[in-house]
Amino acid sequence: MQDSYRHKGLRKNLVEEIRLKGISDQRVLDAINRIPRHFFMDSGFINFAYKDSAFPIGAGQTISQPYTVAFQTQLLNVQPHEKVLEIGTGSGYQTAVLIEMGANVFTIERQKELYLKSKALLEIMGYRPHFFYGDGYIGMPSYGPYNKIIITAGTPEIPEKLIEQLDIGGKLIAPVGDKNSQVMTLVEKISATESKITKHGNFIFVPLLKGVKQ
Ligand code: SAH
Repeated sequence: MQDSYRHKGLRKNLVEEIRLKGISDQRVLDAINRIPRHFFMDSGFINFAYKDSAFPIGAGQTISQPYTVAFQTQLLNVQPHEKVLEIGTGSGYQTAVLIEMGANVFTIERQKELYLKSKALLEIMGYRPHFFYGDGYIGMPSYGPYNKIIITAGTPEIPEKLIEQLDIGGKLIAPVGDKNSQVMTLVEKISATESKITKHGNFIFVPLLKGVKQ
């Protein structure tokens, strides 16, 4: 795996593109600028790595569009040392962005093949999140509560168990809707029983599914 001047140049252009699309948090842009996204894609598709679009990663899943990754990360307002729970490791790219932001990341993937592949890749790249093969629908209560929770798959409703694992003052971001379209939804937990909900435009993600896949 090589990160050449050409890759770095293409990545700079990508960062500029997503800045123009409205991402203003410099820490998010810097994180994207530092991560070789082409490492997360099969070698045959390297030319697509620095286009601002989602791309298949096998097992019927996709690596999210860089703009979408940046948008979710910006809304979460991730701060150094915060505990962040990610549902849907997928390629591991979003995980790397959260780690570059300084977060202590706990990430869950339900498909064994992707879990193993992304765990191996992130370890080679020097990223050390806590990896779990399991059902993100139920979260990871034993390590909670979390300052931030990010769901990177579309869901008709936000699982109640995940809101329970959010710290008071914490934030959860999730694309909520049916399989054709979801609304980016930010939940801010104000007290044990109250949350503030705001909506931030339409996106399309692969679905959040219950249970695990061998
Ligand atoms: N964050 C990823 C996006 C991956 S797509 C990236 O940057 O590449 C969404 C991922 O969520 C898929 O890998 C899918 O298998 C996973 N997923 C779907 N339902 C899940 C669940 N209940 N628990 C954990 N992972 C889930």
